Amino acid sequence: MPMGRAAPCLRPPAVSCAEDSAAAAVEEPLPFRYNCAMFSDTPFHLKHLRDRGVDVGPELAALAERDTFFALDIGTESNDMNPRSDAARTAIESIQDPQTKTKIEAMLHFSLGIWPGKEAILRRAEAVAELRANLDAARRDPFLAPRIAAIGECGLDHHWNPAGVDKRSQDDFDARVFAGEAELFEALLSLGLDTDLPVIVHSREAFDGTMSCMAHSGVTRGVMHCFSYGIPEARAVLNQGWYISFSGSITYARKSALEESRELLRFVPRDRLLIETDAPYLAPGPHRGKTNTPVWVEEVYRCAAERLDMRAEDLSRLVDGNIRALFRL
Ligand SMILES: [Zn+2]
Repeated sequence: MPMGRAAPCLRPPAVSCAEDSAAAAVEEPLPFRYNCAMFSDTPFHLKHLRDRGVDVGPELAALAERDTFFALDIGTESNDMNPRSDAARTAIESIQDPQTKTKIEAMLHFSLGIWPGKEAILRRAEAVAELRANLDAARRDPFLAPRIAAIGECGLDHHWNPAGVDKRSQDDFDARVFAGEAELFEALLSLGLDTDLPVIVHSREAFDGTMSCMAHSGVTRGVMHCFSYGIPEARAVLNQGWYISFSGSITYARKSALEESRELLRFVPRDRLLIETDAPYLAPGPHRGKTNTPVWVEEVYRCAAERLDMRAEDLSRLVDGNIRALFRL
């Protein structure tokens, strides 16, 4: 896959939003070169990157070179913590430079969660018990314990699950999966409450159901990631005290949807905004269709910053402040 390199702080913007070049402006160089931790990513999938043949060591090293503050590897399966931690440890061991190694160890964090796939939904009680056991083990592991930052991802996905609501086929509705999916989500929200960790929620074509589970859970600390809804939905999420995270999909906005995307970004208070890649998925703008990498999160920041009429570097500092607040760092 194409390898991105870290951007030194003094570099001018590499890309602008694909459909929004008129708004692109060459930024003034920063007045200083130091203390410029750049472009945190919440989250990406380290093991999925490795499974696609990406050498994740150099990717993490590239983030370390630009002093990234926070890099979150997100969980999707009840039993994926060990292979993910192996992938991270192997990547760190492959780094020669001790300073780079130290920086990666400082920025890298993990969450544990279960993506709402049909198999996990049908064996949800067992899957949640496995996840709890893996969380307990992670909390006894000296490498993982200080790096466990969240529960997730978890949520509802009526695009992929047989819920009938995607209109692909009305007869794909499966009552067992539909009810079980909400139960699985509720169990993970409870885990967030029990552990006092923020929850990372995945929601696709399932807004009302997602909000209903969230509201009943009592969880007030969390983020809806890869936000794919509009302003009324954003308002409801924000009213629950939650954060909203935008991915590379904001760079896909067609000209006709640009104003809408700008309004949505501006609607979200700046102290509730996060930015992510969800790599290896959702590669931004010019890389669309390729295997995404956390290094390209810079392009999501640049696109969001253009729409907010601010500098990407300033947006990065602002998001780092939000990350400190949400993850209590
Ligand atoms: Zn997701």
